[in-house]
Amino acid sequence: MSTKIWLHPPHMSGREEKYVREAFESNWIAPLGPNVDGFESELSRCMSGHSVAAVASGTAAIHLALILLGVKPGDEVLASDFTFTGTVNPILYQGAVPVFVDSEMDTWNMDPMLLEEAIMDRLKRGKKPAAIIVADIYGMPANLAAISAVAEKHGIPVVEDAAEALGSKYKGKPCGTFGQLAALSFNGNKIITTSGGGALVSPGPEMAEKARFLASQAKEKTLHFEHHRLGYNYRMSNVLAGIGRGQLEVLGERVTAHRIIRQHYQELLKEIPGLEWQAEPDADYFSNFWLTCLTVNSKEAGITPEAILRALAEDHIDARPLMKPMHMQEVFRDYPRYLNGNGEHLFANGISLPSGSALTESDRERVAGWILRIHAE
Ligand SMILES: *Cc1c(COP(=O)(O)O)cnc(C)c1O
Repeated sequence: MSTKIWLHPPHMSGREEKYVREAFESNWIAPLGPNVDGFESELSRCMSGHSVAAVASGTAAIHLALILLGVKPGDEVLASDFTFTGTVNPILYQGAVPVFVDSEMDTWNMDPMLLEEAIMDRLKRGKKPAAIIVADIYGMPANLAAISAVAEKHGIPVVEDAAEALGSKYKGKPCGTFGQLAALSFNGNKIITTSGGGALVSPGPEMAEKARFLASQAKEKTLHFEHHRLGYNYRMSNVLAGIGRGQLEVLGERVTAHRIIRQHYQELLKEIPGLEWQAEPDADYFSNFWLTCLTVNSKEAGITPEAILRALAEDHIDARPLMKPMHMQEVFRDYPRYLNGNGEHLFANGISLPSGSALTESDRERVAGWILRIHAE
């Protein structure tokens, strides 16, 4: 039987255990401790010196961002529609109302023109949106200049969901440093992992400090437990931060590996017409290409995305359809949406290929081989 190829398994560097061992030897098994401090300052260096609060997940980071921006029950929050549910669940945690904005085809991320239309329409209905959450999907930066310009024009704060985009850059600046606040994820499937974890990134230290406070049950600085506002148990554990420190040392290598993987797939499959790869629109965009993604024009290619997924699954290869847009999810059925058909098109026609950074050349050839074979049939 052929070995399983996962979509994006964790890829340890061997440097993680040193930090985890230190945590054990010093008995810092608690949440917080020297690895959390170290991870925050090392990550801050990757984020152009922006402040970092290490938390339990990317979803927790987005939730904290909304709280810090003052999003209240009944407020409307504009959000990327073509994304993972972690982007938008925190809107409901706050009792606020998600308003979904569809994608542009250039980046597959939030369409800035549609965002503007959505804002105008919400204003016309008498409600100014409280925030915008924009995701950098599959590692591709959104059109952050245009999104920020629209947001600034209307005085609406932006949260950048860079959960998938650590190591990506827009106009030379790291993803995770755009907007009023940003979120990163270190879930097991992301470009680097702490097993489970996330971070809130803010331009100055004040917001990060407030996030740390709220994430520690909003415990006041007294010996006894004193609480003046609602808190959360959202901090990162010191053991897991140790994994993150080891992973962060190889982030650059991981990004390079992902870019080579994508390039190689494209080369292997270049004979098949009708394959459209998620691509950097111009030199302003630098993607970590966390996952290699493409759409299949079935008429031109002579194969369907379903047939590709089926053939790969039979050989124990884990490939997936693209994100199912939020407006198509039962849980978000009743919320407003501004659509142009692009998210639905991507979901109906797109796939992600196995993209783990440990994927070998022959793994890639095995994956591409099946696609070439069914194309030739
Ligand atoms: C993974 C992810 C999240 C949530 O991160 P977790 O650490 O899994 O909570 C949010 N948004 C996007 C786009 C993601 O890919």
